[in-house]
Amino acid sequence: MMKQHFPQGSCIKFPSFPQKNPIEEIWENPAFSWNIPVSLIHKIQTYDFSDPIFAQFVPSIKEKIKDKNFSTDPLNEKTFMHGQLIHKYHNRALLLCTKTCAMHCRFCFRKNMSFSPCNNSHFSHELNYIENNESLSEIILSGGDPLTLKDDIFKNLLDNLSSIAHIKTIRIHTRMPIGFPNRISQQFLETLRACKKQLFFILHTNHVQELDNEIFNALKKIQMLGIPLLTQSVLLKGINHSFLDLKNLYSLLIEHGIIPYYLHQLDKAEGTKHFAVSINDGTKIMKKLSEELPGYAVPKYVQDICGKKNKTILC
Ligand SMILES: *Cc1c(COP(=O)(O)O)cnc(C)c1O
Ligand code: SF4
Repeated sequence: MMKQHFPQGSCIKFPSFPQKNPIEEIWENPAFSWNIPVSLIHKIQTYDFSDPIFAQFVPSIKEKIKDKNFSTDPLNEKTFMHGQLIHKYHNRALLLCTKTCAMHCRFCFRKNMSFSPCNNSHFSHELNYIENNESLSEIILSGGDPLTLKDDIFKNLLDNLSSIAHIKTIRIHTRMPIGFPNRISQQFLETLRACKKQLFFILHTNHVQELDNEIFNALKKIQMLGIPLLTQSVLLKGINHSFLDLKNLYSLLIEHGIIPYYLHQLDKAEGTKHFAVSINDGTKIMKKLSEELPGYAVPKYVQDICGKKNKTILC
């Protein structure tokens, strides 16, 4: 058995695991580095790729598989960039507020962009663009993870966006509370409470094993502010690609008043082919979910297709 040496701190860069069943090999030194929150390491139940946490965060040598359909910019986002703002859809645009992520999911479609800290924290170019585009009514804060921004930078950004009259809603897309529920601090909650525009909070979560009461308690504080809480997930082979996995996930979420928004078909980013599930299989799972769950507990199954004006609904 390998020695377990988890250093102090919140994230592990190069853990070594007591991998019990090494059918599939760990890739020790991938370009998209290891980054696993300690709280998630503690939720691993079996130290191999059959475990939904292990498989999401531990690099596999399968990431080295090349396929011409899996590219470094699968959504052709470069074409729609104005600084760090992606304006692809009609009345909403997505701001890559940072390139930093609190955890590195191995299936991430942005894994091939450099995840270095972002220097531009004033967003002056992007704010200027938004101000001059009255067709925009919503800004989506994404990244990287917007919650990795320092509180003062995050607050400044919300204040600046809120001062633009034609922006009516601001959406925050994050996965950070899954690894770091204590990010939902009093100061952060105060920033959300003070925001003059309607906020929406979209949590990225893929499996019940990621979730616990500490996370739900933190999220409840956001819900108490009157901010709708929704989720998005990615359909991932070997992690949640079964009726039961998703039924359990969505049942638990609605128990806590959280509405499943999107289930994403995997974006074809280089190094993620081993996570792909066919649309045919995805559709079958969705049909069964619709039969067994309340309508509001079933997300839209969507795919991001290059050149389309919105996400394509598969089911
Ligand atoms: C997904 C996405 C959005 C938001 O789309 P919704 O369907 O409104 O959730 C906006 N901009 C970009 C570039 C996106 O990828
Ligand atoms: S949290 Fe989101 S952006 Fe960050 S690595 Fe995971 S999937 Fe990618």
